[in-house]
Amino acid sequence: MRPSALILLSLLPLTAHAGDDAAPPPAPVARLFNHLPYGEAAPADLQPVPGLAGCVMAREAVPDVERLLAAARAEGIALGALSCFRSIAHQRQLFCAGLRDCDGEAALRARFVAPPGYSEHATGYAIDFVQRGADCRAAEQCFALTPGGQWLMRRAPAFGFELSFPAGNKQGVGWEPWHWRWVGTPAARARFAAARTNFPAPPAVPPAQMKTAAGHEVRPPLLETAPGGGDYAVSTSRGETASLLATSAMRRP
Ligand SMILES: [Zn+2]
Repeated sequence: MRPSALILLSLLPLTAHAGDDAAPPPAPVARLFNHLPYGEAAPADLQPVPGLAGCVMAREAVPDVERLLAAARAEGIALGALSCFRSIAHQRQLFCAGLRDCDGEAALRARFVAPPGYSEHATGYAIDFVQRGADCRAAEQCFALTPGGQWLMRRAPAFGFELSFPAGNKQGVGWEPWHWRWVGTPAARARFAAARTNFPAPPAVPPAQMKTAAGHEVRPPLLETAPGGGDYAVSTSRGETASLLATSAMRRP
């Protein structure tokens, strides 16, 4: 989403709207930037994120969002959220905001805003972070260079988050260093299976288990238990930055 779109977004309320307008955009618009269809999370599966006013996310993602925020805070980094769950109706408002002829101008807008029915935010697993106190959230490079933006690139995968739209992404949409999707459970990973296959996200949360060329499982050496009951496997090699493997919530209900 480019600056003007983000500014528009910031003027709209964070709270979710009831889904009363689920009409998808014309198919060619979605195809133009390889936007993938996403259904809307059921209200019963959503929960407000404590400490993030107006931010509602998939219930199973909330403990990891809280852990991430606390870990950042412990390092002196104040992260907030600009947008979390968005209904398809709300996405339509965003997508058409400022356009006289929404359908006619949709192709241009689709590079920076997902069309309604094609946003990861509808799943409840996506969040747009902001660096509190920084007034440059609307600019990609500026956000990426904030302490929060840099911290997320280093640490977000440890909490089950991966960057959906990296710079120069294969999908062809705008760079969104603030937009992270949570893939900490098999259910969440399943929602993003097509995206993860077609448009790998660096940094990404690696597969739950690695297989060697011979097909043997490689068990990660360390396991860190997530509060929701899942595991984040931390693979450590001497002299290298730890790489984090999410096997989160394999035991979750
Ligand atoms: Zn977003």
